[in-house]
Amino acid sequence: MSKLGFIGLGIMGAPMAGHLIAAGHEVFLNTRSKVPDALLTGKALACATVQEVAQKADIIFMMLPDTPDVAHVLFAEGGVAAGLSKGKTVVDMSSISPMDTKQFAKKVNALGCDYLDAPVSGGEVGAKAGSLTIMIGGPDAAFERVKPLFELMGKNITLVGGNGDGQTCKVANQIIVALNIAAVGEALLFASKAGADPAKVRQALMGGFAASRILEVHGERMIKRTFNPGFRIGLHQKDLGLALAGARTLGVALPQTASAAQLMQVCSANGMQDLDHSALVRALELMGGHEVAKT
Ligand code: NAD
Repeated sequence: MSKLGFIGLGIMGAPMAGHLIAAGHEVFLNTRSKVPDALLTGKALACATVQEVAQKADIIFMMLPDTPDVAHVLFAEGGVAAGLSKGKTVVDMSSISPMDTKQFAKKVNALGCDYLDAPVSGGEVGAKAGSLTIMIGGPDAAFERVKPLFELMGKNITLVGGNGDGQTCKVANQIIVALNIAAVGEALLFASKAGADPAKVRQALMGGFAASRILEVHGERMIKRTFNPGFRIGLHQKDLGLALAGARTLGVALPQTASAAQLMQVCSANGMQDLDHSALVRALELMGGHEVAKT
């Protein structure tokens, strides 16, 4: 059994760490608020600092909100880097900047340690079920070493390429998801305003070429008005920001991504940044003066 660390025990991190603990590993835990009591079972132990996690564990997982959080946890005074010693592995499963990830990996490598970027898709449901999609960037040997642990948390596990490529893959994922949510929102708003029952429209379309996981899950949320997260608008805005910043650096245009980002901005401007990203439909509803279904 390995000595593992897990830093960031929020919506995603808590159930993911739970799978590692349930498999019998010694897991050293830290999060900004209190480590949830429910996780302190088996060989799990709460640590007062992230440095202590890095000192005690051989493989240190992180599941934090954004790039500055990962930079802080890794490199601030008393951070993970201060607790690392040669031969350890840092695995960042947060969704953050691909470019900054390459720099973080270099700094960790300079300490004689491996770095894997391993963001996920599948949401809270996938985290709880241990069925996440995990997209990884980093060296083959480190990937093979950590793979059995990824298999406790996910099902579709792919080594995409070198450091940063896992995060690039995740940004691509977030572009596809955002544009699909916008498409489903526009379709259901159109159908509802035209007088059709959006629930019946969704049911009919689920059998055809327009079927998708987004129509199934997010479409249902739009109709039932269940906008509790799930995946917060504010976090998806962060991901589309990474896409648009990357596009600018690379010199490519992402017009639909820019449009989806603006719709999310409408939500945030109206106090909805902590709702599930399916609430993007609220921006369309505000502009259209009509709700898909009664709240
Ligand atoms: P969250 O806000 O629920 O959890 C983040 C956790 O990080 C919190 O528990 C917080 O206490 C902890 N944290 C923040 N700063 C810290 C610090 N300095 N030291 C220790 N702990 C710290 O967020 P989440 O929804 O779990 O998302 C985490 C990451 O996973 C994000 O990058 C997000 O984009 C990505 N993600 C989320 C989902 C989803 O559906 N929620 C799906 C896929 C990917």
